[in-house]
Amino acid sequence: MGPGPSNVDSAVLEALALPTIGHLDPVFLQVMDEVQKMLREVLKTDNEFTIAVSGTGSAAMEAAVDNLVEPGERVIVGVNGVFGTRLVDMLQRVKADIVPLTAGWGQPIPHDAVERALKAAPASLVMLVHGETSTGVLQPLDGLGNLCHEHGALLLIDCVTSLGGVPIFLDHWKVDACYSGTQKCLSVPPGLSPLSFSAGAVEKLDNRSLSVSSWYLDMSMIRDYWGEHRRYHHTAPINMVYSLHAGLMQVLDEGLEARWKRHRIHAEALWAGLEALEWELFVDEEYRLVPLTTVKPPVHVDEKELRGRLLNEFGIEIGGGLGPLAGQVVRVGLMGTSSTPENLKAFLSAVEQITYRKDGAGVAAAEARLAE
Ligand SMILES: *Cc1c(COP(=O)(O)O)cnc(C)c1O
Repeated sequence: MGPGPSNVDSAVLEALALPTIGHLDPVFLQVMDEVQKMLREVLKTDNEFTIAVSGTGSAAMEAAVDNLVEPGERVIVGVNGVFGTRLVDMLQRVKADIVPLTAGWGQPIPHDAVERALKAAPASLVMLVHGETSTGVLQPLDGLGNLCHEHGALLLIDCVTSLGGVPIFLDHWKVDACYSGTQKCLSVPPGLSPLSFSAGAVEKLDNRSLSVSSWYLDMSMIRDYWGEHRRYHHTAPINMVYSLHAGLMQVLDEGLEARWKRHRIHAEALWAGLEALEWELFVDEEYRLVPLTTVKPPVHVDEKELRGRLLNEFGIEIGGGLGPLAGQVVRVGLMGTSSTPENLKAFLSAVEQITYRKDGAGVAAAEARLAE
């Protein structure tokens, strides 16, 4: 119940133990095709270039930056948490002309700030984190794609934590590039990272003046392996691809809409329970990230000791605060397979025991909300 990895279902773990076959074996190529097709379904996109990058979420993040940005290009980037800060770090390494748009930790980036930056000078790209796992903020995106395109910019989003847990409509939102990870709301072990480029993003890649600085993450070459040429670039992490295949099948079996709803119902029950215990939810409800809740424990609770006791006495892992929020908040995930009524009630009950809340108000409020 931390900020990821989430619990992995046994069928997805068992897929890891299937025989390792060759990365050009026709059977494996078919598995890859199915993974691409299912990724398009969960991202709600028709983007031809939709793949799983070898590496965790940060690998696809770096792939997006390295492939879509050239030195000196003006890039507008939202910085309101750890992951926007990480994007800036990667952009510095490719020598982009960075325009950071800052907002307080716990706040989204206002759309009018994006608009002002686009009007001030042409930019080639706008990058925003959809689900900021460090702060628990969901960035509103509706309408931003059109705004970016009107000003000749492409829109890129980080949906590592949001994919599979909250609604994403890549094509409808006119997002040009997005990357995700396997170990958050998809509940697949860490190791692969979905990446999708629109036709506009692929065109930008094709028209680069310099080759991509990273050889391993050069999508112009990797495209020839996932695409029809099937040209060897690097050995695919075969068993991880099986596992992602199994995980995506589970997501689609459940149904995306049902999965989004499950995440929301359980998050709302958790929030009700925490509020009944007088814990302060860190983000306004309007922008609250459903799969990951940031919350301030009461002042008399030592958050580090709390996390230690939850893990050691109750077998429950949650996350601490990152950056300026270290020691201020704890981060409670209800992601993918971990988003269950049993988990959220076990967590609230453990918190009640650790903090001597004998009235059981947290679990009772959560149960009342679940009953609604
Ligand atoms: C977890 C996360 C990442 C990084 O993913 P890793 O798998 O840890 O490399 C990037 N962005 C966001 C929003 C995340 O939550």
